[in-house]
Amino acid sequence: MRSELEKLIDLQKTDTNIRRLKQQIETAETRRADIEQEFEQHAFSIREIQGKRDKLHADRADLEKQIAENKTYLERADRNLKHAQNQKEYETAMRETDALQKQISAFETQIVEKMTALEEVEKELEERAEEINSIDAKREAALTEFENELAINKKELEDDTKKRELVFETLPAQLASVYNRLAQRGRDGIAVAAVINGSCSACFMSLRPQMQVEVKKGDQIITCESCTRILYMPSKESQSEATAS
Ligand SMILES: [Zn+2]
Repeated sequence: MRSELEKLIDLQKTDTNIRRLKQQIETAETRRADIEQEFEQHAFSIREIQGKRDKLHADRADLEKQIAENKTYLERADRNLKHAQNQKEYETAMRETDALQKQISAFETQIVEKMTALEEVEKELEERAEEINSIDAKREAALTEFENELAINKKELEDDTKKRELVFETLPAQLASVYNRLAQRGRDGIAVAAVINGSCSACFMSLRPQMQVEVKKGDQIITCESCTRILYMPSKESQSEATAS
C-alpha cells in the first residue's frame, strides 16, 4: 500500500502532464495552421519564381514576334528604297528603313536582357529543384506527423484522466479536498512541490533545517510555510533530473 504522500506526488505528476496535454490539444489548430502556412510561404516563393520564368518566356516570344513583323516592314521599306522615283520618296524610304533597323536592334537588345534574366531564373529553379519536387511530400509528412502526435496526446490524456480518477478516489476526503484547493489556487496547478536544494520548488522559500528533516522522513504531510503547498523530498535521481531540466 502506497503512502498518502506517494499518491499525492503521483497525482501531481499526472495532473501536470494532463495540463501539458490539454494545452497541446487546445493549441493544435493554431500549430497545424502554422505548419500549413510555413509550407504555403515556401510554395508561394517557388510559384513566384516559376511565374517570373513564364513571364520572361512570354516576353521573349513577344519580342521575337515584333522583330519578325518589323523585318517584314523593313523588306517593304528596302523595296521602296530601290524603287524610289524621286528624292522625296528616297528620303522617306531611307528614314523608314533607318527607324525599323533601330527598332529591330532595340528589340534584339531586349531579348538578350530577357535571356540573361531567364538564365538566372532557370539556375535558381535548378538549384531548388530538389526542394520544389519534395515540398508536397514534405508537407504531407509534416502534417501526418503532427496528426499522429496529436492522436497520441489525446490517447495519453484519456489514460491519464482515468489514472487520476483512480488515484484520487483512494485519497482520504480531507486530503483530496486540500489537494484540489491548492491545485486550483495557482495558475501553475501545483499542489505538491518538491524540495530542491533546501527550498520549496514552487515558491523558492528556504526551508528550516528541522523542516527539511521532517519532509525527508516522508511519514506525514508537511506543507510549505510560505505557499502552503504539500512538500516532498525527491529521490536523488529525480532531483538531479529536476534540476537538470
Ligand atoms: Zn512554497
